[in-house]
Amino acid sequence: MERRFVVQLHRARQRHYDLRFEIDGALVSWAVPRGPTLDPGARRSAYRVDDHPMEYVDFEGVIPGKQYGAGDVIVWDAGTWEPHGTDDPAAAVAAGELHAEVHGQKLRGRLVLVRRSGASRDGGGKDVWLLVHKRDEHAVEGWDPDDHPRSVLSGRTSDEVKADPELHWHSDLPAARAAVRVRPAIPPGPDGDELAALDAIRSDGTWDVFGRSLRLTNLDKALFPPRDRRRKPVSKRDLVRYAARVAPVVLPYLAGRALNLHRFPNGAEGKGFWHKQLPQHAPDWLPRWDNPDADRGETTYLVVDEAAALVWAANFGALEWHAWTSRTDDPHRPTYALVDLDPGTTTSWDDVLVLARLHRTAFEHLGVRAQPKVTGRRGIQIWVPVARGPSFDETRAWVERLSRTVGAVVPELVSWKWERNERGGRARLDWTQNAINKTLVAPYSPRAAPGAPVSVPLEWGELDDPALRPDGFTLGTVLDRVAERGDPFRTVLATDQRLPRIS
Ligand code: MN
Repeated sequence: MERRFVVQLHRARQRHYDLRFEIDGALVSWAVPRGPTLDPGARRSAYRVDDHPMEYVDFEGVIPGKQYGAGDVIVWDAGTWEPHGTDDPAAAVAAGELHAEVHGQKLRGRLVLVRRSGASRDGGGKDVWLLVHKRDEHAVEGWDPDDHPRSVLSGRTSDEVKADPELHWHSDLPAARAAVRVRPAIPPGPDGDELAALDAIRSDGTWDVFGRSLRLTNLDKALFPPRDRRRKPVSKRDLVRYAARVAPVVLPYLAGRALNLHRFPNGAEGKGFWHKQLPQHAPDWLPRWDNPDADRGETTYLVVDEAAALVWAANFGALEWHAWTSRTDDPHRPTYALVDLDPGTTTSWDDVLVLARLHRTAFEHLGVRAQPKVTGRRGIQIWVPVARGPSFDETRAWVERLSRTVGAVVPELVSWKWERNERGGRARLDWTQNAINKTLVAPYSPRAAPGAPVSVPLEWGELDDPALRPDGFTLGTVLDRVAERGDPFRTVLATDQRLPRIS
């Protein structure tokens, strides 16, 4: 298991950076007033402060009131580290010298902490250390942490977090409950009046929602046939309503990314096709992106940067939403690595679960954060957040190595054949979607199938729920689930994870 480290920019009575290393299940910590740096010429004072619980490692928000450390906190940098020159970093700290090889988003290379003077026996005086960055390949002359003020967790600055924190930290509570949510992680969708206005439109009309006037058409058209004949089909009005209500949940996974629309203008039973080019008749306000590497005829892509854009896509007949794995500001660098457990004709649901659990074990072993979701069809996908850096070739090779290692445990379940009809009905572990402009279905996207199933993110523990089915969540049930349980997929939005070598 890799050790985590974090640097939190903490504006308490005095502004400082807290440098914390995971050692023996706690965060061993120093306060560094001028901040850690890549500058090999800089010598920083660092003050040893109390160990913090591991739960604090991804805390970003406000420490309220008069308690110790009151102020705002952002996760300024995060990643993994290993001690250098010792297997026992706790002993190294006790002896007054710690060498740490850090793999953060901002900080890379070797940091060295050396004790200059200890606290006196009666607790007076300060435990003063010196912090330097080695003159190694990651060193950057003159590098200043204050030039890089944004959180690696949320992209926000300290002022932005202070103005609108998601969490408060209450150090008088047990660590597992000390982070208290003060703002819902998911903003509200349309209100009751707006939903009533949608229902009042006859077949075609204008709906005012999310600050836009949307022209809607053919609202009573049946788009998804029912699973059994006693039920009603799911109409276009139902899809538009779902898109509007789920938009605040799904927006973080779509914003800043090109969206490939899987359109079924005649419904899920009709023929579907990929629609990438934004049509001429698209309203001017729709956010868009011109792909510099595009094939002819698919230059301008829809980018769902605002909720109304998803409602527009639903009205346009996009039954499925497939956002790119990379963002438009750096389209050749993915922010996720994707594992696709693609069942074959003889793969049972239990087989899929076996494969998913084996991947889970591999991720735990590697110390990698990853989150599963059911596809809404028959399979499970696992999404792995990746810090900006590796190319698609690299993430694809990493997923291939991972899946080949896992698949070797259960050769009877897995085929490595490319052609479907050569797989003997077995599952494929498909790493090939880790490529530019290749996509997997977005979380919370409906699937074009009877009953309007939805691809839904899971907690890992739900794999053990005997009632779990890959297509068990539908357009009619997902929003209640999100309201009750929140969104387990938020972890894939982290931007701090580097993929470890798989040997
Ligand atoms: Mn602090």
